[in-house]
Amino acid sequence: MHSLNADLHCHSTASDGSLTPGELASRAREGGVRLWSLTDHDELVAQHEARAAAESLGLAYVSGVEVSVTFIGETVHILGFGFDPDDEAFAAGLAALRAGRADRAREMGESLAAAGIPGAYEGALALAPNPDLVSRTHFARFLVENGHCANVHEVFTRFLKEGKPGFVPHRWASLGEAVRWITGAGGVAAIAHPARYRFSPNEEFALFSEFQGHGGRAVEVTCGSHFPDEVKRYAETALEFGLMASRGSDFHAPGESRTPLGTLPDLPPGVTPLWTVWADTLEGRRSPRPGEPGALAAATAAA
Ligand code: AMP
Ligand code: MN
Ligand code: MN
Ligand code: MN
Repeated sequence: MHSLNADLHCHSTASDGSLTPGELASRAREGGVRLWSLTDHDELVAQHEARAAAESLGLAYVSGVEVSVTFIGETVHILGFGFDPDDEAFAAGLAALRAGRADRAREMGESLAAAGIPGAYEGALALAPNPDLVSRTHFARFLVENGHCANVHEVFTRFLKEGKPGFVPHRWASLGEAVRWITGAGGVAAIAHPARYRFSPNEEFALFSEFQGHGGRAVEVTCGSHFPDEVKRYAETALEFGLMASRGSDFHAPGESRTPLGTLPDLPPGVTPLWTVWADTLEGRRSPRPGEPGALAAATAAA
């Protein structure tokens, strides 16, 4: 169970990834993944397609999402797993959250134009699934395609991080809303890539304790954007708070993402893997509830 090759974080063309759910499912399978989740930003529309693609390949699937949250002025991402993807309150909450993206993108376009880069809003929009899902990633790809920067990472450093000319502050969901949407739909919430936030130790303690107070139960310990010392540190944090540990590549696009699906190291020893909450279904002892992995005995057989 501890060494199950679970990859519970990636993005498709339904948010800011460049591959379809079907293409991702194939790559997950080829990368040796045994339990997979597609976690598009603020969007559930691809969940049924992802599950069908996974199950047609004999790959166990758990529903997923990555919700954008503002916590004490900083953007934090909260992952949700194993929820009912047809839950109406969850869908309505996410739709309201997405609605803010179009205006923000227009402002980003204006601010990039003032910095000497015209046409970025239209360019980003053409690369996004719809105006409510335009992300900084789409802007970054437009700037690379038009020769303003050599790669997406350089665009973020020069234009899209806080304090840079294309950055527009935005208010996302509250921490409590995000956790309640996920748990209200029968799912489990996890703090994504905790090492990426710029919190003081006190602020980080507040994030973890408030998250837990709202009913959050896990933290992403092993992930594509964590260095080995950060993996170790958040394994300790998980134990300290009694949170389960998750593992995910955060794969977005070939050539852009450093971590292909299924290639992360195992979780560090001692932590409780998030997927133990699905142990009964993984071991075929009862039938899955909506959103839970379906064809699962095979997933743990080799783990
Ligand atoms: P948004 O939700 O529109 O603010 O966009 C956030 C997305 O930008 C994240 O989900 C990442 O995919 C991407 N991102 C953030 N920081 C970086 C970075 N330094 N390099 C590459 N991509 C980044
Ligand atoms: Mn992203
Ligand atoms: Mn994220
Ligand atoms: Mn992500």
